[in-house]
Amino acid sequence: MDKESKDSVYSNTDTTKIALSNEDWKKRLSPEVYHIAREKGTEAPWSSKYEYSKDIGTYYCAVCGNALFESDTKFESGCGWPSFYKPISKSSVIYANDTSHGMKRTEVMCGRCGSHLGHVFNDGPAPTGLRYCINGVVLDFEKAKEAEEKYNKGENKPADFDN
Ligand SMILES: [Zn+2]
Repeated sequence: MDKESKDSVYSNTDTTKIALSNEDWKKRLSPEVYHIAREKGTEAPWSSKYEYSKDIGTYYCAVCGNALFESDTKFESGCGWPSFYKPISKSSVIYANDTSHGMKRTEVMCGRCGSHLGHVFNDGPAPTGLRYCINGVVLDFEKAKEAEEKYNKGENKPADFDN
């Protein structure tokens, strides 16, 4: 991937909406990510390294870096894809009706870049009862410890932050 062009779009903090043509996305994304994010593809079930991951941290959109899900809302649904019961915020994801493949489903897209992430179903656990079934290919994961170290190196470190 062209790092320079990725950096102008990819951010974990900038929430400005991004609208690029598929031609531009194609230049930035790997073929696997492009297929799922922009062509609404689906990765093979059980293929994601995040499927059984119990690491503590945050899942971001692999296309634009938007924060999507916290690991404490992840659960093992047995459906073959990483599953969550709640996005980080209401604006983390957006929804659309999906009637493709003869099914009535609700598509889940990134709230920042509009990339296809997966679908949401009504058979999830409490407290939301929702199951966000997300393609691992379009997720980036950052362990809490790494985020903490990055934070500690930053300038905004509080004086009494000692662990
Ligand atoms: Zn995104």
